[in-house]
Amino acid sequence: MSILVINAGSSSVKFGLFDEETLAPVARGLLDWAGEARRATITLHAGDGEEIRKQLDVPDYRSGVVEALKLLGSLPGAGAGLEIRAVGHRLIHGGEEIRRPVRIDDEMKRKIAKVAHLAPLHIPAGLEAIEAVEAALPGVPQVGLFDTAFFGDIPPCAYLYPVPYRWYEEWGIRRFGFHGTSHAYCTQRAAEMLGRDRNGPRLVICHLGQGGSATAVRGGVAVTNTMGFTPLEGFMMGTRSGTLDPGLLLYVLREHGLSVDQLDHILHHESGLLGLSGVSSDFRQVEAAAAEGHQRSKLALDVYAYRVRAMVGALAVTIGGLDALVFTGGIGENSPWLRSEVCTGLECLGVELDASRNADCHPDQDIATPGSPARVLVIHTREDFMIARETRRLVFGSI
Ligand code: ADP
Repeated sequence: MSILVINAGSSSVKFGLFDEETLAPVARGLLDWAGEARRATITLHAGDGEEIRKQLDVPDYRSGVVEALKLLGSLPGAGAGLEIRAVGHRLIHGGEEIRRPVRIDDEMKRKIAKVAHLAPLHIPAGLEAIEAVEAALPGVPQVGLFDTAFFGDIPPCAYLYPVPYRWYEEWGIRRFGFHGTSHAYCTQRAAEMLGRDRNGPRLVICHLGQGGSATAVRGGVAVTNTMGFTPLEGFMMGTRSGTLDPGLLLYVLREHGLSVDQLDHILHHESGLLGLSGVSSDFRQVEAAAAEGHQRSKLALDVYAYRVRAMVGALAVTIGGLDALVFTGGIGENSPWLRSEVCTGLECLGVELDASRNADCHPDQDIATPGSPARVLVIHTREDFMIARETRRLVFGSI
C-alpha cells in the first residue's frame, strides 16, 4: 500500500511513491518533455532496482501523465507496495482562499482553476495531473498542498505593496510567499531539533536551491516570506534576479527599448548567478569557477551571500530576534562557504557559527558553537515526505 506524490511542472512531472505505513520512499519517477510537445522521456527507479528509461509518444500532457502512472503501477522491484491508496499533489498557488491542504473534488478543481492566472505555467499543469489520476486511478482520493498555504496568516503590513489600494482590491495584487511546503517541514523539524514544541522558536528559514526564499516564523506561524506576488521577489537565484529597484525596470523599458517579453525572459532566465557570473546558474559550478580565480563568479557569490545576509537580518527583526537560523535546499545544505559568509555579520543577532561543524556538516545538524545564543540548523528538506504525510493525514486520519 502506498501514497503517490506528484509534482507537476510546466515541462516535467516528478512522481514519488511512499510506503503508507512507514512513509519510506518506495519508488520515484520523472516524466520530462525537454522541449518536445509530443515526445516525453520517463525515468523510473523502484527500491534498489535499476533505472528504467523509456520514450513515450503522447498527444498531450495529460496522456503523458496517464502513461507514466501505468508504468509506475507495473514497476518490478517494489513488490506489492505499489498499490496506490491516495495521491498528494504539490500545487504552486492557492490564491487568497486556499490556506491549507485540501481534498480534491470538482468544486475544489474549479476553485484552483480560478487562480490559474497567478501561476499560469504551473496551475494548469497541476490540474492536468489531477485529471490524469482520475482517469488512471479512478476512485483514489486526491489531496492538494499549496506552496502559498503556509503563508495564509501573514499580516497585511507584510503582504501589502505600497501601491494604490485598489490594485489589491480589484486586481488581487499582494505578496503571497512560496516554498511553503519546505518552510513548513523545516518549522516542524527545527522545533524537534531544538527540543521545543513547534509553537516556540523564532526562526528564519533560508531555502536556497535553484530558487530561493526565506521565511520568518514565530509561534509555528509564518510572519513573512521573501517571495512576493510572484516567485521573482526576494533572494537572487540561479537565473532569477530577485528583488530590484522597480525604477530600473521602467528605465530599461524606456531607454533601452526592451520589450515586456524580453524583460520577462531576462529577469527569469538570464539573471541571478548566471547573469552576474556569465558562467552558470548552478551554485556549485560558480563556486568552482571562483575557486579557479574567475572574478565575476566571485562577485556573483558575494552578491548572493550579501543579499541572503541582509534579508535574514530584516526578517529576524520582524519576529523580535532569532532562536535559530535554518539552512535548507541544495545550496543551504551543501555549501559551507555560503553558510559561513551569511553568518559573518549576524553575530549581532546572536549567531555564532562553529567553523569545524560547518565544514563537516551532515544534515540534519546544529552547526552553531555550544555557547551561541541562536542555533544554526542545517536541515535536509523533505517536501515529498511532507506531502505524503499530509495526504495520509487528510485521507486516513493517521499522523
Ligand atoms: P531545486 O530548487 O531545483 O530543488 P536544489 O534544492 O537541488 O534545487 O538546489 C540546487 C542548487 O544546489 C544548485 O545551484 C546546486 O549547484 C546547489 N548545490 C548542490 N550541491 C552543492 C554542493 N555540494 N555545493 C554547493 N552547491 C550545491
